[in-house]
Amino acid sequence: MNQRIFLSPPHIGEAEAGFVAEAFASNWIAPLGPNVDAFEQEIASYVGAQGAVALSSGTAAIHLALRLLGVGRGDIVFVSSLTFIASVNPVLYEGAVPVFIDADETTWNMSPAALQRALEDARRAGRMPKAVIVVSLYGQSADMAAITELCEQYGVPIVEDAAESLGATYQGSASGTFGRFGIYSFNGNKIMTTSGGGMLIGQDLEALKLARFWATQSRDQALHYEHSQLGFNYRMSNVLAGIGRGQLQVLDSRIEARRAIFERYVAAFSGIEGIDFMPEAPYGRSTRWLTAMTLDPDATGTTPEALVHALMEANIEARPVWKPMHLQPLLRECAYYPHTDLPQGSVSDQLFARGICLPSGSSLTIEQQNRVIDCIHSHLADSRKLASVLAAHSG
Ligand SMILES: *Cc1c(COP(=O)(O)O)cnc(C)c1O
Repeated sequence: MNQRIFLSPPHIGEAEAGFVAEAFASNWIAPLGPNVDAFEQEIASYVGAQGAVALSSGTAAIHLALRLLGVGRGDIVFVSSLTFIASVNPVLYEGAVPVFIDADETTWNMSPAALQRALEDARRAGRMPKAVIVVSLYGQSADMAAITELCEQYGVPIVEDAAESLGATYQGSASGTFGRFGIYSFNGNKIMTTSGGGMLIGQDLEALKLARFWATQSRDQALHYEHSQLGFNYRMSNVLAGIGRGQLQVLDSRIEARRAIFERYVAAFSGIEGIDFMPEAPYGRSTRWLTAMTLDPDATGTTPEALVHALMEANIEARPVWKPMHLQPLLRECAYYPHTDLPQGSVSDQLFARGICLPSGSSLTIEQQNRVIDCIHSHLADSRKLASVLAAHSG
């Protein structure tokens, strides 16, 4: 009774245990092995990339992508502001300097207008970024045609952080395949998981081979342990790759399930004044990894924070939309390019102030979702009542 409902828990299918059992039976427990090779090929063929490197996390994949692009101390890297900290941390690992780019209202992803201003300023200052990390948020691809055109014009390579958008499409192609490199995450809350892991993808097989070398402690060809380059311990284990292979088999059904969950939330709340949902941009198909909804505090009498608390009391996990990177204490010194200059704050600021992510796991049952919906309806009714009492008193 009143079992906890999580935001986005793992949803294991039927094939995962078999692949893992195979790894055990053949004693391929150690890093690398047949599951890793197969998982890399299967992901590459699913998204239509030349190659893929299975790694210990999405963060590691971003880190290696930046190293492949030669990002180093003092270099500038442009990054979407509305994202999870993992998009930025690898920039800091390399001693580079992030500059944050706002989102636009129609995609919630990197604003091409803000990016253009940032690129223009960089050119004028004679300090071009070494890379642009474009994040595709909550299952929806950023506007890659517009962003790619700008980056090509200024000669800056793109790393696509598609950690949240595996399975989404942009103009019919897979999210993650538009940049010089793309990355996916298989963290426990993502649309498919290996319990923890990531993938680096790209078209340049030589570069991916180098990433694989770096990720295995940069062991040179020799009988003894010989190292001429800095290395990392970033490879995925053969056991975890087995989980990933099973998860990939059911990815399409997981996308359908999450989209259906989104539609049920829309049906439940769309008539209510002051409630909106993250739009689906016309250029592609979102996976709706997380259902993201906005609350207008004036119209609803409540805030994401209050609603998260109300849900928490009912043993339901929800979260505010990502707190933008330009507002993080760690990154407060960094430059920021808003989409437009508005007195009420940039687009990311406003999405953070109004946005909430609702339970969206593909294993969420109708009954569980109804529990979430009922709890939100009752919180909204209470908030409206309270608002009208307060209005009556002050009037
Ligand atoms: C999850 C996530 C990552 C990478 O996460 P790992 O936990 O390192 O696999 C990177 N960027 C974004 C936007 C994410 O949501």
